[in-house]
Amino acid sequence: MRAHTKATQDSLSPEAAMSILKEGNERFVRNLRSNRNLLQMVNETRDGQWPFAVVLSCIDSRTSAELIFDQGLGDIFSARVAGNVVNEDILGSMEYAVKYAGSKLVLVLGHTKCGAVTSACKKVKDGNITALLHKIKPAIERASKESDSATDDPRFIERVAELNVFEAMEEIRERSTIISGLEKEGKIKVVGAVYDVETGLVSFFDE
Ligand SMILES: [Zn+2]
Repeated sequence: MRAHTKATQDSLSPEAAMSILKEGNERFVRNLRSNRNLLQMVNETRDGQWPFAVVLSCIDSRTSAELIFDQGLGDIFSARVAGNVVNEDILGSMEYAVKYAGSKLVLVLGHTKCGAVTSACKKVKDGNITALLHKIKPAIERASKESDSATDDPRFIERVAELNVFEAMEEIRERSTIISGLEKEGKIKVVGAVYDVETGLVSFFDE
């Protein structure tokens, strides 16, 4: 597998970019990862990078986007923060990726058994963690409107993880006129997915 070039990046539609990630995850769960020569990819990307997607995921050690989507060097921008929440710096990073570096897809990737989501549901408060977990509150409120489950019920927590991805997608569109503008023009797409830490499978919300 070769690193992406300006030509391969230009030729991709947002849908094609999503297919690359879906196919990569399929290889990952089947243990059929592409045979990449990473050192060769270092050489191929020495003069520039043309990543086709920007992925916002959690810092969780099990959710490395490059690994679970079977991607190599120069393929994706990877933004990671506990609970895959949005902030100004994440938005700026995404805007750079799609407007100046040519990426076609913005993916918000949540995951099951997320420590940040679980802690937010359990109303943990400590140091700077408090402000971070506060960003997950809108998803908790939405989940509470849907069901009467206790907030420490594992099913409730997984629903919050899903809704937290929807919240992030909405926030990206609302707070970034660059991203929402490019999406309206059909040049990029904002999508969401959840990674299952028990199976390695990524479920996209469009499925
Ligand atoms: Zn997490």
